[in-house]
Amino acid sequence: MHKSALPQEGTETFKDQIRIILVETSHSGNIGAVARAMKNMGLGNLWLVNPSSFPDEASYARAAGASDVLDSAHVVSSLDEALADCVLVMGTSARGRKVPWPVCAPPEAAAAAAEHAGSGPVAMVFGRENHGLSNDELQRCHYHIHIPSNPDYSSLNLAAAVMVISYEVRIAMLEHAGDTRLGAEAPMYDAATEDEYWDVPKADGHQMELFYRHLEQALVAMDFHDPENPRLLMPRMRRLFGRIRPDSMEINILRGVLTYVEEHVRRANENTAPERESVPGSPNKDANAGDEPRKDTK
Ligand code: SAH
Repeated sequence: MHKSALPQEGTETFKDQIRIILVETSHSGNIGAVARAMKNMGLGNLWLVNPSSFPDEASYARAAGASDVLDSAHVVSSLDEALADCVLVMGTSARGRKVPWPVCAPPEAAAAAAEHAGSGPVAMVFGRENHGLSNDELQRCHYHIHIPSNPDYSSLNLAAAVMVISYEVRIAMLEHAGDTRLGAEAPMYDAATEDEYWDVPKADGHQMELFYRHLEQALVAMDFHDPENPRLLMPRMRRLFGRIRPDSMEINILRGVLTYVEEHVRRANENTAPERESVPGSPNKDANAGDEPRKDTK
């Protein structure tokens, strides 16, 4: 099989489709060091969620020749904004968390990133220097990436962690480009993987957030879910759908089903409302049998 040349440096796909997102970085020097690591590895798409200080002297000093990456960085006020149009989201973590999530090693994560980069932005999310990413932020991610560092001293400096991941992404993109010419003559992804023959684009982050909101609302309406005592229902739902990675049409169908269920619940509530008010002992009493509020048996 003919193999194309390596992708030209600086092509849109290679440089822009991998989005490095830093959440609430407290030391601006680290932001500069991240920009430098990214540019070394041919990446250029940096997003900053609520940085403590940016732009400033320390960030530009540590960026050295990568000031262009800082110049074009996007500063946003929420992680949701940074993820809205992403087709694949991976979050990095130095340690295990309460709800186990699919965890990849850096090479596997980079291979997935290279595969999906042709269909839209792929996010790699990095946490705060002092306490990483919150559980809520990690639950926004399809996969977690753990760099298998020394278990007795597992936490890397933020820019060092970005360097490890960016290096793996570069290797994966170059390997991928060897087969598919990604980033050169054919910038769009066309490898023989799932996305190539899939007929509908994968749902993006914004669609998924609207779906989770709708799902929760319907589960509450059905009395299945008690927001006062949520347990881990919604994180588990996120994990389930994150594993499946539904496409836009599947999400539209699911939302249609939810709307239908909500409508039925609403009508059922309207129909039973007068009966609920019936006086105990009245001739209608038994009509309410089985309509008692559900008692939690757990
Ligand atoms: N003290 C924090 C670690 C912060 S290090 C904690 O316990 O979570 C800052 C960021 O660098 C992390 O949020 C993560 O994005 C990245 N990082 C550091 N070490 C890592 C590792 N071993 N694997 C993956 N990411 C790591």
